[in-house]
Amino acid sequence: MRSIRRIALANMASGAEAQLHLHEITGGRGGGLTVGISAAIHGDEGVGTLILREFLRTLDDAEVKGRLLLLPVANPYAFEAKSRHNPIDDVNLNRVFPGAAGGWFSERLALAIVDHFLAKLDAVIDIHSGGALPTVDYVYIFNDEPLSRAFGSKLLYRPRGGVSLGTIYGGTLTTVSVERGIPSVIIEIGGGPIDQAPYVARGVEGLRNMLRALGVLPGRVVRRADQIELARIDIIRPGQGGFLRSEAPPLGEPIAEGAVLGRVVSPYSFEELEVIRNHLANGWMVLAHLVETLVQPGDYGYMVGQE
Ligand SMILES: [Zn+2]
Repeated sequence: MRSIRRIALANMASGAEAQLHLHEITGGRGGGLTVGISAAIHGDEGVGTLILREFLRTLDDAEVKGRLLLLPVANPYAFEAKSRHNPIDDVNLNRVFPGAAGGWFSERLALAIVDHFLAKLDAVIDIHSGGALPTVDYVYIFNDEPLSRAFGSKLLYRPRGGVSLGTIYGGTLTTVSVERGIPSVIIEIGGGPIDQAPYVARGVEGLRNMLRALGVLPGRVVRRADQIELARIDIIRPGQGGFLRSEAPPLGEPIAEGAVLGRVVSPYSFEELEVIRNHLANGWMVLAHLVETLVQPGDYGYMVGQE
């Protein structure tokens, strides 16, 4: 059985009522876990929304054991603006969990997501992507390694100290879910000004495999033999603004220490302003600008991981 709950948040200054849309799928098989999947907590990361649409289109509800709660757009005003931050208050929603009833709009939104979504879950999967310009491809390992591996990405990242000790940012949805002992996975997939269809197809298959691992969908869990576990990921940012032309290997492929990642070229003089190199030994490509894009100094340029 399927339903869409429209959770009223507040009346906005425009007069429109802010809502969250929460899909609930109750399976045809009895028992089972309640699994939540969220997307677009960062509004410029819409590939997760596309993945959830295709996942639902191809799901046979009779096969589901348990319940699915899907939040395709966790941050609606940021999504509308195609912005990482919420334009209503200029807050990064994924830094203010578990939220606050008397706080900024984003803090109230975070609280609603915790109350109506997270608090009901036995496992949570949060889908992120590279945003408007870069493309990314890895999965975090926090407190359920087999579940993280079941998505099927080649690169996995286990932050030292886990989710709450400062190696990644605090105040995320996952900070709260890990603190509550809920099996939690962050997926980073796709993004950038390229066709997202291959990432959508992979995302749907990956979610289905994770749900098999959780016993929510029937069938054998497919395990990938060539997965690489990263202990470190460095963000490499251009120091100059201009066109960034990539020379990096494809995502998921190795890159040598000192190898050229890309070059920044002036759109005005056409001079080469900067050569960006990888500084990590035994590097693996995690994030890159796959087509030539205009960047500012300090933008996300590349992410390179190390085993
Ligand atoms: Zn994100």
